[in-house]
Amino acid sequence: MKLKENLEQILCPICKSSKNKIELNNGQFQYLKCMNCNLIYRKNYFSRQEKEELYVNAKDFEGYLKNIDKFISPFNRILNLITKFKNKGKLLDIGCNLGLFLSLANKRGFETYGVELSKAAVIYARKQFKLNVLNKTLKEAKFKDKYFDIVVINHVIEHVEDPISEILEIRRILKDDGILILGTPNYNSIFSKILRERWPSIQPKYHLFLFSPQTINLLFKRTGFKLVYLSTENREFNTKNILIKSAYNFMSEIISKLGYGEAMLITASKSDIL
Ligand SMILES: [Zn+2]
Repeated sequence: MKLKENLEQILCPICKSSKNKIELNNGQFQYLKCMNCNLIYRKNYFSRQEKEELYVNAKDFEGYLKNIDKFISPFNRILNLITKFKNKGKLLDIGCNLGLFLSLANKRGFETYGVELSKAAVIYARKQFKLNVLNKTLKEAKFKDKYFDIVVINHVIEHVEDPISEILEIRRILKDDGILILGTPNYNSIFSKILRERWPSIQPKYHLFLFSPQTINLLFKRTGFKLVYLSTENREFNTKNILIKSAYNFMSEIISKLGYGEAMLITASKSDIL
């Protein structure tokens, strides 16, 4: 009974409803589901100190660097998507990590900017790719109003404590005809439904939210954005068996086209009303 009372006091970060139920629970972590808007959110957020350790002092990029080539084609897909709308202008990558995406954007002629919490990643991005990257949060960076043509927030919004204020800040710094590119895991995917607590994209230490197309749309509605384009995709399946791999790829493509892939890639523009 006491537990239930406590749960009811946790307000949904998007619609502020107090009605929720436990959606995922493996004993070590719990995610709640808002009974009003269906948002899935972590029950407990981390402390400031934990956050520093997770992000500001993050410096182990060995795994990422080893597999850096794997990121080139997904990043190029994002750039191909962007060029359907804009082929030049000021582009900001929020949580730009080591700067690989921005370096590819640079080569395509965009004027690039980044913000990144990890001190070590910022040093790398500046040294390796000569990028203009601030070691700040988006809000600390205090960019001018309507400064950017393109803002990219790729697999970052699920880490942010207050997604509404983050997207509102993006709205402030984006030109009226600018575009927002947002990537995040898709809780409405086939794999999340099958694997539940074992779905690799859950990462409870990092991911405070598990969005679906429905809850992203709600987030946009609350922050003055409208969805222009949504696609989903699955991660690659590593096996040497060509038959299994091609069967997986075939299924994966159908699943993704239907909107049930593991990750969403979304294009949004500012709506007239906030
Ligand atoms: Zn809600």
